[in-house]
Amino acid sequence: MNRSEPGAIRRVVIAGGGTAGWMVAACLAKTLGRALDIKLVESDEIGTVGVGEATIPTLLTFHELLEVNEQEFMAATLATFKLGIQFENWRELGAQYIHSFGLTGRDHWTAGFQHFWLKGCERGLAADYGDYCLEHKAARESRFAHLPKAGMNYAFHLDASRYARFLRRYSEPLGVQRIEGKIVDVRSDAASGHVQALRLENGAEIEGDLFIDCSGFRALLIGGTMKVGYEDWSHWLPCDSAVAAQTASIGEAVPYTRSIAHGAGWQWRIPLQHRVGNGLVYASREMDDDEARQSLLARIQGDVLAPPRIIKFKPGQRRQTWCGNVVAIGLAGGFIEPLESTSIHLIQRGVIRLLQLFPSNGIAACDVEEYNRQMRWEMEHIRDFIVLHYHVTERQDTAFWRRCRTMEVPPSLAHRLELFRESGRVFRVPNELFAENSWIQVMLGQGIRPRRHHPTADLMGDDELNRFLDGIRSGIDRTVAQLPRHEAYVRQYCGAVAQAA
Ligand SMILES: Cc1cc2nc3c(=O)[nH]c(=O)nc-3n(C[C@H](O)[C@H](O)[C@H](O)COP(=O)(O)OP(=O)(O)OC[C@H]3O[C@@H](n4cnc5c(N)ncnc54)[C@H](O)[C@@H]3O)c2cc1C
Repeated sequence: MNRSEPGAIRRVVIAGGGTAGWMVAACLAKTLGRALDIKLVESDEIGTVGVGEATIPTLLTFHELLEVNEQEFMAATLATFKLGIQFENWRELGAQYIHSFGLTGRDHWTAGFQHFWLKGCERGLAADYGDYCLEHKAARESRFAHLPKAGMNYAFHLDASRYARFLRRYSEPLGVQRIEGKIVDVRSDAASGHVQALRLENGAEIEGDLFIDCSGFRALLIGGTMKVGYEDWSHWLPCDSAVAAQTASIGEAVPYTRSIAHGAGWQWRIPLQHRVGNGLVYASREMDDDEARQSLLARIQGDVLAPPRIIKFKPGQRRQTWCGNVVAIGLAGGFIEPLESTSIHLIQRGVIRLLQLFPSNGIAACDVEEYNRQMRWEMEHIRDFIVLHYHVTERQDTAFWRRCRTMEVPPSLAHRLELFRESGRVFRVPNELFAENSWIQVMLGQGIRPRRHHPTADLMGDDELNRFLDGIRSGIDRTVAQLPRHEAYVRQYCGAVAQAA
């Protein structure tokens, strides 16, 4: 085995204490804590990016691994439930659809439900595609409850700063040592190029064997010290800026994120228990920062709690997220863009993959290669899914949308689009984050109507098809009618604790 570093890895230093830093700390401490000495350096003066409040269902798996109590977590982060994302004005002005976390209808082993639904549409028997999905229907009616067995797939909207604090409270008793200070320099080994220590402003040196770069967009170690380049995806993902503002809640907290397209990007609305997170994502070549700020302020409701903040980013990924003895997790490793709330998921994947390949006995080149290969593969599939939203649109009202419609997309996405347009077929690549129903909901929602459906659907006569479709829909209607309002459920589930938190 080609070992670039013979020494055992015992001392892990995490640079940065945002969502990434504390998720990594919590996960390493919980799993390998007894074998490791874990230090986390963060600077209150620098602070965190302060956004990243919508999640996807995989976070539940992460919390299971940590054995986090959901009610305590929700109370501490003033979280609400999320059943999907409502996309407004994406296909065309006035149109909307929900990408929900649930399954839609019932598949046949030869053909997915969409084929039966397409046949139903042709015969005038089918309702909206979303009517056959429990999570979709519950989201639209703003209802939620934990259901036994065939429960609902859900995620959370959470307060990012509180989440980092929650994970800190979790990690410190497990042995993670937090060090407050500004990293001003790095000491490296001249021969191997490996990082040996972080130098802080107060002169202290934090030595380690493995360094996790969670320093956010600054990418202090992976970019600054290791000089790993960045692959820019802005030719496919046009937005490179955001302006974020928090507002006081008005009205009920809905169990979905709202993503509202505008002339040069889109706006998010994330309802928490105590406030709403808002932001406008935009392409700086189409909209300047002042215009974006004004546009956001004109669109949000409720009192603004702090002045809007501009955040600049470059959509893309590091050419390698593991280089030498530095592993970049979180924004330091890349950022696609926030449209499908995938960044926190990628942090989780980054740390779990690191655990699977943990270099306890020294860093092996093949482990590094495997890690980088898997991370890249995962990022690219997510990228394709997000590019889909921009590209498949009927909007032509601005130069931004006209450019998105006509851009050349990655070949992997072009193939999927062709397959669906032609025959309604979708295949999930093994281990890909987004399953078939995510692709179908977004492709239909953005306006694709497949030319054909699978012949299996033709084997059903109208009566049988009608009974089949109607049976699914009415079962969902009955279940949703019995669910409590989402806000009332949150209040009784974790709201009372929240008052005390
Ligand atoms: C506009 C926008 C919206 C987003 N929305 C979502 C979303 O809805 N869902 C989602 O999953 N993700 C979202 N993300 C991504 C999400 O915000 C991040 O993945 C997440 O917050 C993790 O960030 P981080 O910890 O990598 O970086 P940061 O939060 O920036 O943390 C960096 C840490 O490094 C420390 N640091 C930096 N330099 C130094 C130094 N010199 N010395 C000491 N410490 C230092 C900082 O103090 C901080 O503690 C969004 C991102 C953006 C830009």
